[in-house]
Amino acid sequence: MAFTLPALPYAFNALEPHIDARTMEIHHGKHHNAYVTNLNNAIAGKPEENLSIEEICKNISKYPAPVRNNGGGHYNHSLFWTIMSANAGGAPSGALGDAINSAFGNFDEFKTKFAAAATGRFGSGWAWLIKDGSGKLAITSTPNQDNPLMDVAEVKGTPVLGLDVWEHAYYLNYQNRRPDYVTAFWNVVNWNEVAKRFAK
Ligand code: MN
Repeated sequence: MAFTLPALPYAFNALEPHIDARTMEIHHGKHHNAYVTNLNNAIAGKPEENLSIEEICKNISKYPAPVRNNGGGHYNHSLFWTIMSANAGGAPSGALGDAINSAFGNFDEFKTKFAAAATGRFGSGWAWLIKDGSGKLAITSTPNQDNPLMDVAEVKGTPVLGLDVWEHAYYLNYQNRRPDYVTAFWNVVNWNEVAKRFAK
């Protein structure tokens, strides 16, 4: 098979109490796994089997909806697991911290704007911190399983941080309270990993 479900880089309960173990178990083992299975089914026997998920996303307008939905789902969730960890949170430092201050004023302003993108996304989708072609940071959001790598995205760039705001990401613990989930997310952001993505 072309794509495989990456192992979660920590235990299901590692992000508690902010994101509960049962949510992580279902989210990774059922939802992400289904995106991988359905992506592989959609590209079986086609040249896309030999492409990276990034290459597929960058030309997503060439492919049918199952590739867009499930390919986006695979890319987005693979990123999402790595930018969270236990004993995380706090504020970014170094080049990433400087770039956030430069783009948004300060870290609190950044968090406010990112949270507005996350809570303002109607229905299912993602909030993103992206790096554009000139290396500048920007905040955006995408519907469904789209992402800013896609040629169909309104605002394009390389994702350095992403937050899943589908109800399946938070409903067991937070029910309809998406803003509470977004607030809790800051406690599990792995800024070292985000900084690595920014430096690439
Ligand atoms: Mn999800």
